[in-house]
Amino acid sequence: MSYNLFERAKPILNEIQQYGFEAYFVGGSVRDYLMNRAIHDIDITTSATPDEIESIFDKTIPVGKQHGTINVVFNHENYEITTFRAEDDYIDHRRPSEVYFVRDLYQDIQRRDFTINAIAMDINYKTYDYFDGEKDIRNKCIRTVGNAQARFEEDALRIIRGLRFQSQLDFQIHNETFKAMKSQISDIQYLSIERIVVELKKLMFGCNVAESFNNMKELGAFHFIPFFSAFEMSQIQIIEPIDFELWIAILLVQQRIDSSLNSLKISNQEKSMIQTYMKLIELLPRIHSKSTLITLVYDFNIMDIEKVLATSKTLELNGIEIAHPLIINEHSIKEVAKHLPIQQRKELAVNGGDILKHMNTQSGPWLKDVLRQIEIAIITKKIKNTQDEILKWVDANVKI
Ligand code: ATP
Ligand code: MG
Repeated sequence: MSYNLFERAKPILNEIQQYGFEAYFVGGSVRDYLMNRAIHDIDITTSATPDEIESIFDKTIPVGKQHGTINVVFNHENYEITTFRAEDDYIDHRRPSEVYFVRDLYQDIQRRDFTINAIAMDINYKTYDYFDGEKDIRNKCIRTVGNAQARFEEDALRIIRGLRFQSQLDFQIHNETFKAMKSQISDIQYLSIERIVVELKKLMFGCNVAESFNNMKELGAFHFIPFFSAFEMSQIQIIEPIDFELWIAILLVQQRIDSSLNSLKISNQEKSMIQTYMKLIELLPRIHSKSTLITLVYDFNIMDIEKVLATSKTLELNGIEIAHPLIINEHSIKEVAKHLPIQQRKELAVNGGDILKHMNTQSGPWLKDVLRQIEIAIITKKIKNTQDEILKWVDANVKI
C-alpha cells in the first residue's frame, strides 16, 4: 500500500527530471515507509522553482507559492511539491520571515527538524541520508538535524513536534535534544496557538502519549501555552491516546477553571464538541434508570457516548466519576438506539402550532417545555407518536 503511493507519484518526479531538475520524496512519507508504517501523504522536494513547476504541469494550485509550495493535480490526486529552500533570519523564535530557494538538496535537508524527517528518496528508492536518519529510525531515536539548541532557538515549535513524534512513533528523545528542549521551552510562548494545536492534537492521539505527555509536564510546556497556562496540568494524567476535544473536556470538568476556549482559536465545531463531551462526562454517572438512559441516547450522538465510555479509565484516573457499566455499556446504548420511535423533535406528529390551535391559546415559554415533555413521553413509550394520542396527553397534562 505504502509502496503504491510512491509508485503512483513516480511519473511526477520523472516529469520534473525530464526538464533537467532534481526531484525526491522527502519528510514523513519517507520516514514512515522506512519504518513500514502506513503513509498518508507524499511530500516532494525539487530543485525546480515554483514558476518552473507551474510551467511543467497543466493543473497546479499555488497553495503556498511564496514559501515554495505548489500543488500538482495528477491522476485526480493532489501532490505537494516544494522547492529546495534554505531559511534565514528567524525572528522571535518563529518561522523565518524569508525563505531562499536553492538548487542543492543538501541545503534543503539541512533545514529540516529531525534526522528521521531529513531523508530524501529518489524514484529508485535510493535514500539520501546526510544526517544518519536511518540509523536513528533503527535506534528509535529523535535527534535534531545539527545543534539542538540552535535549532530550537530558530523555531520553538520543533520542541513540541519532537514530543509529538515521540508519541506517534514510540521513540525516545536523544539526550542532547532533550536537554535543549528543557533550556528552550519558554520560547514556545512566541508561537502561534494554531501551530501548537496542530501538533498537540497529534501528540495526544499518539500511541506513546503517556510518555510524551509526561515530558510536556516535566518541561513545564503548558505554562507557556495560552488556555493551558490557567490549569494545574500536573493534576492531569493521560495514559492512553485521546481526542484533543475530549482531553480539553476532561480538563475543564476536573478543574472548573474559567479559561476561555477562544484563546485556543479552534473552530466553533470543535468548541461545541468540547461542550458536548463535558455534558456527557457529567451526565453519564447520573444515569440510573432505563428512562434516563433512553433520554440520553435520544439527546446525544451514540458515537460521542461511546467515545466517552471508552475513556472511563482515563476519567477514573483523573478523579472523575464514571458511568455505571451495568446500565450504560456499548450493548445497552445500541439496543436503546435501535428501539427509539423517533430520532428528533421534527418527527413529532404535532408541532407547536398544532398544540396552540388545539388549546386555543397564545404561545409562551411553556410551549418549549411541553414539547420536550411530549418528546420524552414518546421516546419512553408512554404514548404513541400520533396526533390523537399526543393531543389527549396535552388535555390530561397541560394546564394553563
Ligand atoms: P506527518 O506524517 O504527521 O505529516 P511529517 O514529518 O510529514 O509528519 P509535516 O508537518 O507534514 O510532518 O512536515 C513535513 C516535513 O517538513 C517534515 O518531515 C520535516 O522534514 C519538515 N518540517 C516540518 N516542520 C518543520 C519545522 N518546524 N522545522 C523544520 N522542518 C520542518
Ligand atoms: Mg507530512
